Amino acid sequence: MSFEGEKNREEKLKEIEEHKTWLIENENEDKQRDFLIFVCSECGLRITFEKNKNRNTTGMTFIYQDYKEYFINNSDFELFPNKYKIRKISTWGAPTSYICLDCGHGVFNEEVPTKECEQCGSKIFTKGNELEGKLCPICSTAFSKGLEILGYEKYCEKRNEINNEWWNIYRERYKVKKPEPVIFTEEENLEEKRQNAIMKIHNEKDFVINNKNNIIFFRLDDAFWEGSFNCLLEWNNKNNGNFLLYDGCEIWIDKNIEYEKIENVLKILARYDYFNKKLYKEKIGLDGYTVTLEVKYEKNYKELAMWCPTDGILKEIGNLLVEYAGMNIKELYEYAWE
Ligand SMILES: [Zn+2]
Ligand SMILES: [Zn+2]
Repeated sequence: MSFEGEKNREEKLKEIEEHKTWLIENENEDKQRDFLIFVCSECGLRITFEKNKNRNTTGMTFIYQDYKEYFINNSDFELFPNKYKIRKISTWGAPTSYICLDCGHGVFNEEVPTKECEQCGSKIFTKGNELEGKLCPICSTAFSKGLEILGYEKYCEKRNEINNEWWNIYRERYKVKKPEPVIFTEEENLEEKRQNAIMKIHNEKDFVINNKNNIIFFRLDDAFWEGSFNCLLEWNNKNNGNFLLYDGCEIWIDKNIEYEKIENVLKILARYDYFNKKLYKEKIGLDGYTVTLEVKYEKNYKELAMWCPTDGILKEIGNLLVEYAGMNIKELYEYAWE
């Protein structure tokens, strides 16, 4: 009998396979994505138009940053007089098909909007792929031909390239010196490489299940999927093992752990009769945190996922691992949310 939140090995393998298929499909779809980028040559406003094949509508993202805010703390910063019209530009997160050329407000519509712009009252709307020759809503300079890009990866490269280019243009305008390049020592470079290698492995979905060692993988999420972190205990036979605490970007703690401490965790596993348990049935309360515990112990593999344990194995093991990290849960969350 299995309990809520508990997965057996077969279910997990199936899930991994599904995940792999999803990744391949997603990758193929990304390669087909079709972008048209307009950049204003005067003020750097960028409007990206994307065809949405499924709905035959358009999606635009609209990015304008007033770069001076990034330079305000630089001692050599000189305020550049704003010769542009003052526009309240909205940033579009949702699909938009038309843009108000007077203020930059986006409208999602199949047909040309007939009402006035709700932000500025203007009636001049243009479709997101027809901006060539139209006037930029920030500085009234005519847009030149859009850049056509196929594939999401290529689009990201281009976007970074444009950002860097405009970064430099704004540096010159605000007379801000380029920062001195940071030079890392050989040791720091090696450490960075090591961290990247570890992260790459640990982000593999079947890392636990395919591992030759015993592993306890412990994950804490909050309800918004931000500030998450992972904890991993890995050991072989009765030897000292390795303790790792990390989030999606960096490793916080990577140290040896005595077998004695690992044994304490194993004792909890045994006490709760982990592979044959009847826990958690009435132990679920809601405080916004999710905890997953994935265990590969000798030949057994199991995964538990549940909402915010107030009691039981997840909480007990979780607390122990956090103690081994030399922190408390509150400190960890504060750390994770930074
Ligand atoms: Zn408007
Ligand atoms: Zn402009």
